[in-house]
Amino acid sequence: MKQSNGNILQTATYNIQRAIERLNVDPDIVPFLIEPREKIVITMNPILSDGKVASIKAFVVRHNDILGPAKGGIRMTSDVTLDEVTALAMEMTWKTALIGVPFGGGKSGICYDPANISSQAKEVIIRSFTRGVIRQIGPEIYVPAPDMGTNEKDMGNISDCISYSGGVSITSGCYVTGKPVVIGGILGRREATGKGVVFTILEACKKKGIDISKSQVAVQGFGNVGSVAAVEIVKAGAVVVAVSDVTGGVFNADGLDVDKLLLHVKDSGGVKNFAGGKSIDCEKVLQVECDILIPAATGSQITYSNAELVKAKLIAEGANAPTTPEADDILNDKGVFIIPDILCNAGGVFVSYLEYTQETQREQMEYAVVEQRLRDRMHKIFNKVYDYAESNNVSMRAAAMDIAVSKVVEGVCARGLLP
Ligand code: NAD
Repeated sequence: MKQSNGNILQTATYNIQRAIERLNVDPDIVPFLIEPREKIVITMNPILSDGKVASIKAFVVRHNDILGPAKGGIRMTSDVTLDEVTALAMEMTWKTALIGVPFGGGKSGICYDPANISSQAKEVIIRSFTRGVIRQIGPEIYVPAPDMGTNEKDMGNISDCISYSGGVSITSGCYVTGKPVVIGGILGRREATGKGVVFTILEACKKKGIDISKSQVAVQGFGNVGSVAAVEIVKAGAVVVAVSDVTGGVFNADGLDVDKLLLHVKDSGGVKNFAGGKSIDCEKVLQVECDILIPAATGSQITYSNAELVKAKLIAEGANAPTTPEADDILNDKGVFIIPDILCNAGGVFVSYLEYTQETQREQMEYAVVEQRLRDRMHKIFNKVYDYAESNNVSMRAAAMDIAVSKVVEGVCARGLLP
């Protein structure tokens, strides 16, 4: 099964089916890898700022919990679908297995555009969502976190809603990660995914003989992951020549001033009209002359229609499922080195795991410890995937999938197949 510009469920299904074939997985175990354990669709009817009753769909998918409770963020966009959430939950199963944290894969979606609502109205939606899926959330069931359109304030509201419902000040165990530090969040969670992306890039540069101080970088998406990755890659010595977000794109061959761009985005709401570069079309950011491309926006951005136009020799998938299978083949044929999403952006869930463990002890882990543990884990797993890819003559994506899927299969066998 191949696809053209497809949806990310097709991409996720394609990737797992190829891994099942390569690993020759026992047919009795295959359903554990493909079918989600649980899919929930709810309708919420909160009253928003206009005084009218809204009707909002939301989804929770627990794909797999063989290795532990389902873990995965809450995506809040106007067009999120159950298929998209299912694909992202599948990705989380492989990501948590690969990065070595005792979780399974889950994800949620809230079908509402958070861009143009007040913070009060968003809080109403987040609390309605929490009430609606309260039986699906728990330290031993499913532990959400931020994803596109949600942030640490939202996680704080979820935590409050759950403890309030139980009539307690704090919960016993971790119900949500990515919370504000003052109520049990962990230092460094906000930056963890973007930093992890850059740790893997620096390892890849060593392997591929790329001099980071002479490298030009393009970043698609300038939210949590993209903006942190841009800041960190500049600290590592590279220049960021192009950035895009939903408002548009900006390019400067001599390098954008990322700190000024951050201020511009804070003031104006997007990268559009940034004075430190020339405006370019959003999608052109994927095609500019550069050494390293970081897709850090949404899924299915690099497709069969534009993969040939990508100039970068290294792609670091900060976003989930940014590359369709056909684009993947084109890029592999061109010799582009791809750090696949389940490895590249796993820093966030790794630090979420540290938050989960911290919650039971109620002692704040120091920032330096969090950062060192993140760096060590990203290096270790990058090298594990790289060595597997080299010795089995497969791509980094295939290597990462094979390692992750083998671990979940081992977990299924260890538990046994009987209910
Ligand atoms: P975010 O909401 O903070 O930012 C998303 C950014 O992408 C925004 O700048 C938005 O304007 C931009 N964007 C959206 N559609 C775009 C498009 N078509 N072209 C260009 N820009 C576009 O979200 P985030 O948390 O930074 O997540 C970004 C990606 O990283 C998602 O794919 C998410 O699943 C993945 N991810 C996030 C985390 C995390 O910890 N936040 C962890 C792992 C993976």
